Amino acid sequence: MKPIIDTHIHLDMYEESFRDQMLSELDLYSITQLIAVSNDLHSCLRTLTWSMEDQRIKPALGFHPEQSLPTNQEIEQITDLIHRYANHMVAIGEVGLPYYTRKKNPGVILSLYVELLEHFLLLAKELDKPVVLHAIYEDADLVCDLLEKHEMTRAHFHWFKGSATTIDRMKENGYFISITPDCVYEKEVQSLIRNYPLDQLMVETDGPWPFEGPFKGKITHPKMIHDSVEKISELKGLPAENIYNQLYKNTIDFYKIDSF
Ligand SMILES: [Zn+2]
Repeated sequence: MKPIIDTHIHLDMYEESFRDQMLSELDLYSITQLIAVSNDLHSCLRTLTWSMEDQRIKPALGFHPEQSLPTNQEIEQITDLIHRYANHMVAIGEVGLPYYTRKKNPGVILSLYVELLEHFLLLAKELDKPVVLHAIYEDADLVCDLLEKHEMTRAHFHWFKGSATTIDRMKENGYFISITPDCVYEKEVQSLIRNYPLDQLMVETDGPWPFEGPFKGKITHPKMIHDSVEKISELKGLPAENIYNQLYKNTIDFYKIDSF
């Protein structure tokens, strides 16, 4: 098996026993590193702790947008951690806009989330770090506006879904997207893979988020990425080995991490 990196996983959302088992199996499946994203202050602290104990865990610090806004105190504490661990963390994330929360509750004030996102984007710019973005459909356009306004190019739109126009804009701006295991059964993701340049692609699980198809009933594990690579290889009409090499190179260059 060729080495690969899971570029988006929520380690703190796993049950402890499964997390331990999963981490002990990474070498077996040639998963050399994980980009571990954070949801809130507590999550940032846990991700940081694990990343100190295990070099394969590369932490991203941020506040997930699909929840109520944090207090000013929590924002300050996360900001403080980001400054303090600027050299150790690989990115700011997960940050973005609350698409699903807004669908459920139209009373949510989007401008407040935009303000918080802009705060994180400016921090990323100041510290020269990439951003891990949760921004889908029309929200992705709003985020593109902000990135363009601040002349930022190191953007990773994880599990991206959106219109053809948005896709073209993101390709042109050099933004990265990452492909989840649902690519083996989702037509929409398959057409996105055909469309998006291979040198702007990465792979992820967004674990423990569960998948359907051949993964139904299974706890999401980074090893599932090997199925994604097979599918990408088929859709791009290139040998799997080329896909592995390119995805690995894309990830270490984008996140500025050492190859193993
Ligand atoms: Zn996520």
